[in-house]
Amino acid sequence: MYGAYLRKSRADLELEKTSGVDTLQRHRDIIKNTAKYMNITISKWWEEVVSGETIKDRPEVQKMLLEVEQGKFDGILVVDVDRLARGDTADQARISKAFAFSSTKIVTPTKIYDPNNDADEEYFEFGLFMSRREYKTINKRLNRGRISSVNEGKFVGSVCPYGYSKEKLKGQKGYKLVIDEDEAKIVKIIFESACKGTGASNIANHLNKIGSKPRKADVWVSASIRDIIQNPVYYGMIKWNYRKTEKRMINGVVYTSRPKHKEFILTQGLHESIIKKEVWEMANEKSKIKTGKSVKKELKMQNPLAGLVVCGICGRTMQRRNYSSGHTDSLMCPLPHCKNCSSHLYLVENAILDGLRAYLKEFKQIIIDYKDEQNETNLNNDNKEIIEKEIEKTNQQLNKAYDLLEQEIYDNDTFLKRSKQLKEKIDQLNSELEKYSVESKNKKVQKIKNVIPNLEKILDDYSTDLSPESRNELLKSVINKVIYLKTVKGRGHEDEFTLKLDIKL
Ligand SMILES: [Zn+2]
Repeated sequence: MYGAYLRKSRADLELEKTSGVDTLQRHRDIIKNTAKYMNITISKWWEEVVSGETIKDRPEVQKMLLEVEQGKFDGILVVDVDRLARGDTADQARISKAFAFSSTKIVTPTKIYDPNNDADEEYFEFGLFMSRREYKTINKRLNRGRISSVNEGKFVGSVCPYGYSKEKLKGQKGYKLVIDEDEAKIVKIIFESACKGTGASNIANHLNKIGSKPRKADVWVSASIRDIIQNPVYYGMIKWNYRKTEKRMINGVVYTSRPKHKEFILTQGLHESIIKKEVWEMANEKSKIKTGKSVKKELKMQNPLAGLVVCGICGRTMQRRNYSSGHTDSLMCPLPHCKNCSSHLYLVENAILDGLRAYLKEFKQIIIDYKDEQNETNLNNDNKEIIEKEIEKTNQQLNKAYDLLEQEIYDNDTFLKRSKQLKEKIDQLNSELEKYSVESKNKKVQKIKNVIPNLEKILDDYSTDLSPESRNELLKSVINKVIYLKTVKGRGHEDEFTLKLDIKL
């Protein structure tokens, strides 16, 4: 069930005086359009003309929040999130929490904010006051409702396990899993192969060869195969909080382990199984799941760039590879078939040092320029003014886009594309504007001043005579991470890679 909330603000009232636009009517149209586009039926509307900005002054928003908190709605449509709350952080917190803990989406014409979607960082950006951690702790307490759903065999997750999709239960709250025939075929292949003793990476290779693709990634990797084999959902169970992966950092290398979670639940699900329980047990027995890498084996670090360089294509941490032939060590992406080409490790190491030297030079220049700039406040103000004008102009264009949608000159796709572009531009301009704010500039310069002596010392001390471990330590004291990209291979192209250094400031 969906609702919609409309609010005419003071600014709207001003605008109406000069332009004669009926704001509420206009917003109603936008929301109806959005609902039509998303195939949503709106069962309840709240509309208010506001006398104040706070929740206290807005009776309709209070009524809406009460119903949201009771978990009556899947989502609420608004023309923009700032129609719900702006400015006052306590109000924003109240609203954000009401939506988050009832798992209610906020639907705007350009974006859906979904608290159930783990990847949806923006939901939490909308309410900067509430961190993901805080959400998780409070959510734990509110989980009792979910526990009873799990005990009834319902599916409470947000992403369905591979092989299944979900379906709303008739006549009651909640969802159950239903088999996705195409994916289920792959699941059966995985379990059959595992029962024969085929290892996870060979199963992954086989699936890649026959052209199968996982849902989001381009290729199967052994980790996702192992996750499937370990998941009891395939013989008809629902697991919840079953195992959580914990990450630990030892010598800059991340090791994952999967300690048994204390509060897990395993119950008979309402869904159909894809394989028999015996098959599941046999597959798990045979596949002898390894729990993370042996730390002992790698305790002596041999890679000065360990845990530092990230693949510019798939985001995985690049790894050192050594050759028994005595060939020079290389640095490569661990993902099979990743399009990023490997390099000689020493070339990347040297390039990182060059990068640090370049940064040092640039930082010194910034300090010099900054001293000059102290006398150039006028120029700064001019720049600020230009950017502010541009922001205003872009806002007007955004307004215009709404007009064109309303007049049906823009279809929804065009509108979404256009408004997304414009919003991105506004964000960009705002961060540009930030640069000219004296306060933030002072802070940045202070940080740079602090890092310069550190950088100088590292560049002096660094030498290949040092152990890989000490080199690693030196690099990590000034670098957060390095993003690595190389798209051409072969002789003569050895140094044609690009690095992006993220310096600790
Ligand atoms: Zn990669």
